[in-house]
Amino acid sequence: MTPKPSPLRIGLTGGIGSGKSTVSQMLQARGAAVIDADAIARSVTAPQGAAMVDIARSFGAAFITPEGALNREKVRAHVFSNPQAKDALEAIIHPLVAKETQRQAQVALSAGYLTLIFDVPLLIEAGSRWRAQVDRVLVLDCLVETQIQRVVARNAMSREAIQAIISAQASRAQKLSAADWVIYNENISKESLQEAVAQLPIRTR
Ligand code: ADP
Repeated sequence: MTPKPSPLRIGLTGGIGSGKSTVSQMLQARGAAVIDADAIARSVTAPQGAAMVDIARSFGAAFITPEGALNREKVRAHVFSNPQAKDALEAIIHPLVAKETQRQAQVALSAGYLTLIFDVPLLIEAGSRWRAQVDRVLVLDCLVETQIQRVVARNAMSREAIQAIISAQASRAQKLSAADWVIYNENISKESLQEAVAQLPIRTR
């Protein structure tokens, strides 16, 4: 009997519109389990989310929507001009996201998945906090102009709003220097992207 290969943990990252959701679906279709860090962060700050009692205590009712969720717009404006508030918010949210991420990873491992994809938009920005939890970092790269065009088409956001998000994220060069694997998702069809994804040496059952 050949020994079962050990599970492979891949951090999937890239700027907004680089193709993370698209590629994570393709990896899922190849048999990997996908853990979506953004969805987890949203769930802990949704009504009745695990972070909401502490957020209400630290920030006050002004930052909570009538439904009981984190008021993202308000908090974004507040932390923009107040780095200490950003640290306080992250100190509440990050441990809860880490806990839920680990829980989902454990569920996937128990179910026998041999590749776990951690879809983490801000993996590079998080420094060692995420890097230490993955074996490989897969970066999706494309031109900034392409990011803008894709997100304009997808979300009907203004160029300026998307540009502001991109400027607040790590640069392409910073992401590329942290990558083990890179897919250049520029000027290629989804079929070609799929072929690039098919080449990745992931482990499947
Ligand atoms: P992210 O999750 O990184 O924000 P998405 O995977 O949602 O990015 O991709 C952004 C948009 O661009 C989506 O509408 C997606 O369908 C489209 N897209 C991504 N890659 C390609 C590609 N190679 N060809 C055509 N459209 C693409």
